[in-house]
Amino acid sequence: MKLIIHGGFFSESSQTHNTKTAKQNSLKNIAQRSFEYLQNHTAEETAVFAVSLLEDDELFNAGKGSQIQRDGKIRMSASLMSGETQKFSGVINIQQVKNPILIAASLMQEDDRVLGGEGAKKYAADHGVEDFSPEIPQRRTEYEEKIKNGGLGTVGCVVLDSKGRLAAATSTGGKGFELVGRISDSATVAGNYANKACAVSCTGVGEDIVSNATAAKIVTRVTDGMDISRAFEKTFAELKEIDGFAGAIGIDAAGNFYHKDSHPTMVFASFDGQHFDVFE
Ligand code: ASP
Repeated sequence: MKLIIHGGFFSESSQTHNTKTAKQNSLKNIAQRSFEYLQNHTAEETAVFAVSLLEDDELFNAGKGSQIQRDGKIRMSASLMSGETQKFSGVINIQQVKNPILIAASLMQEDDRVLGGEGAKKYAADHGVEDFSPEIPQRRTEYEEKIKNGGLGTVGCVVLDSKGRLAAATSTGGKGFELVGRISDSATVAGNYANKACAVSCTGVGEDIVSNATAAKIVTRVTDGMDISRAFEKTFAELKEIDGFAGAIGIDAAGNFYHKDSHPTMVFASFDGQHFDVFE
């Protein structure tokens, strides 16, 4: 049993040392809590649990603390993929909910598994999800100062459970200051993908991740026999050709972790019950 989580990018220039320490501590804490949860839950359930904790932490750009779009509103996207069933579910541009990943998880039981905008919000309300404003004052200040990518973020988790099942979950508040209607990579197979061989979650500029098909490509390469490290390296070499900005975490069926970023520094933490690996 193993898991790795990420919390998007950390910028040495725009974020303080205290923020860095706070992110390290939070990621370590969430990785540990999620690993405990994994003892009695499946990979899919644990990926959802870990991402919901990350959404609740306003240090990260997902759920509470999400970035604000150009029209002053927050729209969030999240997705879940089970490596076992190879089913994908997600919400795109949902407003006024606390945990988009929980709605993505609920959609896993439906025939229509990816919902957008008002339909996603209506589905949530019909399933008893209460209205919640994810806005925090810091994001409003960034918005008023028109800071794009104030907290380039997104959160994600990939997990291997005791039965060898894999899952990936990803959630985002988007790029910040984007046009209304813009679609993030986070609820697409470019940003979040899993099968029986590998699970990957991405962060970075959604347009680059979609152009590169990052998560789906890495997973496909591992499925076809490539080592996870080579699959990451090859896919990121292709990302470089388009000058892409992205980071990703991955785990294969044998429990090998890998993470890579095109630009320093993607924040992450992994835990296997004994060893922590946390970004520096
Ligand atoms: N990938 C996200 C998006 O483009 C943002 C991020 O990861 O920072 O919507």
